[in-house]
Amino acid sequence: MSKSKSSESVKVVVRCRPMNDKERAANFERVVSVDVKLGQVAVRNPRGASSHEHPKVFTFDSVYDWNSKQIDLYDETFRPLVDSVLLGFNGTIFAYGQTGTGKTYTMEGVRNDPERRGVIPNSFEHIFTHISRSQNQQYLVRASYLEIYQEEIRDLLSRDQSRRLELKERPDTGVYVKDLSSFVTKSVREIEHVMNVGNQNRSVGATNMNEHSSRSHAIFVITIECSELGPDGENHIRVGKLNLVDLAGSERQTKTGAQGERLKEATKINLSLSALGNVISALVDGKSTHIPYRDSKLTRLLQDSLGGNARTVMVANIGPASYNVEETLTTLRYSNRAKNIKNKPRINEDPKDALLREFQEEIARLKEQLEKRSGKKRRKRRRRKVGEEGEELDDDVEDEVDDDDEDGVDGDKNIADYWREQQEKLEKERKAIMEDHSLVAEEKQRLLREKEKKMDDLHREKEASEMLAAKVKAMESKLLVGGKNIVDHTNEQQRILEQKRQEIAEQKRREREMQQEMECRDEETLELKETYSSLQQEVDIKTKKLKKLFAKLQAVKAEIHDVQEDHIKERQELEQTQNELTRELKLKHLIIENFIPLEEKNKIVMRATFDEEDDSWKMRPITRIQDDQQMMTRPVSAVGYRRPLSQHARMAMMMRPDARYRAENILMLELDLPSRTTKEYEEPVIAPKVAAALEDALREEDEIQVDASGFYANMGSSPGLGPGAMAGGFSKKPKSGRPKTGKKASTPTSAHSPSGSGSPLYPQSRGLVPK
Ligand code: ADP
Ligand code: MG
Repeated sequence: MSKSKSSESVKVVVRCRPMNDKERAANFERVVSVDVKLGQVAVRNPRGASSHEHPKVFTFDSVYDWNSKQIDLYDETFRPLVDSVLLGFNGTIFAYGQTGTGKTYTMEGVRNDPERRGVIPNSFEHIFTHISRSQNQQYLVRASYLEIYQEEIRDLLSRDQSRRLELKERPDTGVYVKDLSSFVTKSVREIEHVMNVGNQNRSVGATNMNEHSSRSHAIFVITIECSELGPDGENHIRVGKLNLVDLAGSERQTKTGAQGERLKEATKINLSLSALGNVISALVDGKSTHIPYRDSKLTRLLQDSLGGNARTVMVANIGPASYNVEETLTTLRYSNRAKNIKNKPRINEDPKDALLREFQEEIARLKEQLEKRSGKKRRKRRRRKVGEEGEELDDDVEDEVDDDDEDGVDGDKNIADYWREQQEKLEKERKAIMEDHSLVAEEKQRLLREKEKKMDDLHREKEASEMLAAKVKAMESKLLVGGKNIVDHTNEQQRILEQKRQEIAEQKRREREMQQEMECRDEETLELKETYSSLQQEVDIKTKKLKKLFAKLQAVKAEIHDVQEDHIKERQELEQTQNELTRELKLKHLIIENFIPLEEKNKIVMRATFDEEDDSWKMRPITRIQDDQQMMTRPVSAVGYRRPLSQHARMAMMMRPDARYRAENILMLELDLPSRTTKEYEEPVIAPKVAAALEDALREEDEIQVDASGFYANMGSSPGLGPGAMAGGFSKKPKSGRPKTGKKASTPTSAHSPSGSGSPLYPQSRGLVPK
């Protein structure tokens, strides 16, 4: 890698926009005055009794007032930076300032108006014009577009706009955005299209575009790779990256009533911007050993541009009206500090991740493949020539094999000829077969089929080759080469014009520097004129000097006072934020201490780890790795049960059979019978006399033959009952016509079935006609 060891400062320019209609209508006072020649901006305090308070003066590399043209800014300030990107340096342009001061106007401007186009469209024109004029160089230009909003990175060119990208770091190439899409562009039109798509996506995600753009950072990245034959006969690739950054509005976000989620949001919104300020402070301080790049996505991504190896220009945008004076002063102080950042720009030569190299290698590989294809064909033909093919074919092949040099257009023509010849030849053969009457029909069919198949193959082969060639062409077209229009007269004139403009810009710059130098020397020259002719003169001169120095002292004092006040305000705000966060934290503590079991909390604390990359806490998975590095199997928690059960549930299941703790068979399918509401029949008590008479009466009826042996058995034959009981049993049956519950219902059948005759006998009622 070639390095230019010299360091250079970040270039800071200030641009003040014109009063807008509203401000003019409201008759706001203009408090900003701009001295373009001297590169100074002066801000008056509108409230101060203007007699004793001096305006605050800031000096920058250059300043632009409300009459400044976009193209002037470009030629004087941005063109040299883009030129160095074309040489292989990394370059960054920041637009910093309060919302509505012209950051987007400076970066993008009015796209369709060539007069009011901003840096981004102007750089497109510049880059592609440069390429078209280059000679013996190959270029590859690609573009990406991303946005940082609330510390989340969104790819503005990706189809899936809900996806958030991550920052990664590699030791060789540094910080990069993982999976960021980039598009190879071949012309101004194409790269403009990329920008438009990104801008559309940017506004799609936002409900209120103004608010969204004032809170998010947009970064358009153009990567230019250039390959050139070096003096050592090798191709060398230089890669320059141009970051065009439209920062979020620098005004303080009001945090009134922010709580919980909204507070978190509010603290995140300007995190990147305050981190940028801290990085600048740390870089300028000279004492800090730690530069807090890691504090935000923006500073990490643009690490190179701040104290790194890139060239950086910062445009501070301010408004002229009195009501903006606080923010204007803050912006000027901020950028004043940035002036002192030192970068060490360096050309990136032959980096490992150059896409151009990959393209070149791929093209070479494809070409070789294509070559092989046609080469193989020819060799095949030659071999076949010795075989059984016809004469005419042989001649064709001879011709073809002879012209071996095929390159570029020649090669293309050869290939086309070759395919045509092959086709014609096959066609001819087919015809010959058709006309050959000596062949049997079947044989003819077979041959024809064969030929057709061959033709098909040839067709397919041709298509494949064409596809390959098209691919090569497409890839080659992406690599841009210049030198075609160099003879163009108008082009040449334009070039001269541009050069002149550049020279003028350069001259202006030098003039300004000299002016600034002179201003500095003024005091010294006063001292040099110390040959006083008289005492009075000496007093006069010294008084003048004293006055000047006193004024300076006052200015510095006022500045210190302002800075202190600013500081106090900032501190108060931070303290307020801290208070709110502490209160939030106390609530979380309360919840954790009182509602989360201690051991659970400890477990969680043990598992949590902080991910620096992501800036978030992460939970480690619960896998206890044993000594032998094997994962432990999950403990069996439910032996003998379908699922884990608590001790209590197990006990309850044993004690109470209800469904509460059952894991299975929750439904009980037994019939739920109603409890009985009737009584067992009790026979009336019969007087012994009557009973005897009845018995007698029954005994006379001999015809009733009952085999009651089964009955006795069934009844468990209680001998005490005797035949009387039996008779009672029978007499009951016919009387009670209702079915009875219980076992008794079955007695009659079981009593009669064992009869010898086989046909059941039924008791007959008394008093019926006997047999
Ligand atoms: P920001 O991006 O900083 O919020 P904008 O670029 O959107 O601000 O500018 C706000 C308005 O001011 C726009 O309408 C823009 O056209 C106008 N404006 C800003 N700067 C200039 C300028 N130098 N000349 C003319 N109009 C300007
Ligand atoms: Mg804007």
